[in-house]
Amino acid sequence: MPTPMEKTVYWIEGDGIGPEVWQAARPVIETAIAKTYGTERRLVWQELLAGNKAYEAEGTPLPEATLRTLQGAELAMKGPLGTPVGGGIRSLNVALRQTLDLYACIRPIRHFTGVPSPVKHPERVNMTIFRENTEDVYAGIEYDAKTPEAKKLVAFLREEFGAKISDDAAVGVKPMTEFGSKRLVRRALRFALAQGLPGLTLVHKGNIMKFTEGGFRRWGYELAAAEFAETTCTEEAPQAGKLVVNDRIADAMFQEALLNPERYHVLATPNLNGDYLSDAIAAQVGGLGLAPGVNMSDSLAFYEATHGTAPAIAGKDMANPGSLILCGAMLLEHLGWNEAATRITRAVEGAIAAGTVTQDLARQMAGAITVGCKEFGELVTAAL
Ligand code: NAD
Repeated sequence: MPTPMEKTVYWIEGDGIGPEVWQAARPVIETAIAKTYGTERRLVWQELLAGNKAYEAEGTPLPEATLRTLQGAELAMKGPLGTPVGGGIRSLNVALRQTLDLYACIRPIRHFTGVPSPVKHPERVNMTIFRENTEDVYAGIEYDAKTPEAKKLVAFLREEFGAKISDDAAVGVKPMTEFGSKRLVRRALRFALAQGLPGLTLVHKGNIMKFTEGGFRRWGYELAAAEFAETTCTEEAPQAGKLVVNDRIADAMFQEALLNPERYHVLATPNLNGDYLSDAIAAQVGGLGLAPGVNMSDSLAFYEATHGTAPAIAGKDMANPGSLILCGAMLLEHLGWNEAATRITRAVEGAIAAGTVTQDLARQMAGAITVGCKEFGELVTAAL
């Protein structure tokens, strides 16, 4: 018998509803692979400790061994992590992103038929947002108004650079680099080209902040021209068969996302614009409950349920495992195991279209039947 193609996925259970969404999601992912490839391909799951489980076992929410393993890993997936008990680390998610240099936060956003939405045509949305994950406000430095630090910085800016700035201002610095912007746009362009998509949009606020936000725009175009000249063109000089790179000012992009969402496919954004846009566009298709996401470095793809630990419903078999299930589909697509990925997406579509959904969706859908977290997973598995 030939050796099966194996890929190791390191998984973190997560806090709150983490255990139950995993119990529902993992059989879906494994069954999709087995149904598509028999015994020829498989995932090998290895658990890593983080969050409460790690705190109870090792007295820290983020053990060194977990970080070391992730530093050498290719694939990982996590449930939601709560704010750590015991102090030391303010946010586990931020600590993981920074330590592992997970510089691209990627969110595909599409509508599933039947999911209630605040707009008339949520099905017109099908975008993937690439948000820079290490710079801009994530690396922001700021000082509170009237502190000695703020006063010193304000005095420096006024005396050395003639800046017009009030004595009592709170001040912040948001660093954005050519390196950081280009590596994000490069990844977004590779994705758009691999998927055969017609366009990529750089979203920025360069009309106001010329060098940080405007820099992101300029570096994006420079990168496309330097590294992707054969396969891309600009909106001003369109060329048949090539991917169009354009840009939109962030506020205009919010309007466009509502008015003409079908014109946009991949958005590449600095940190803060991407933060707002990811949640706003996710809301347009019915909220974050079903949205999968991944944070990527050059070596690691780290998938994560985008919702939190939902403490009020934890342990009650009420959580929607859709986000983690769809993370599985994204991971399979990343491996090029597209047939298994499509199987999962279709099965989720089927369960939702049939109106058998968890309470978060059922309470907004006329005629829907509420099922538990476990049963939703079983229904999706049966529909694979
Ligand atoms: P939350 O996402 O946990 O909950 C917001 C609301 O959505 C609640 O009403 C909750 O019941 C509901 N909800 C969330 N996920 C659901 C699901 N899968 N199925 C059904 N309903 C769901 O956000 P919060 O209450 O702001 O945060 C709770 C904790 O989670 C905090 O400690 C926060 O730091 C953490 N958090 C972690 C992540 C992450 O790990 N990626 C993301 C957001 C929040």
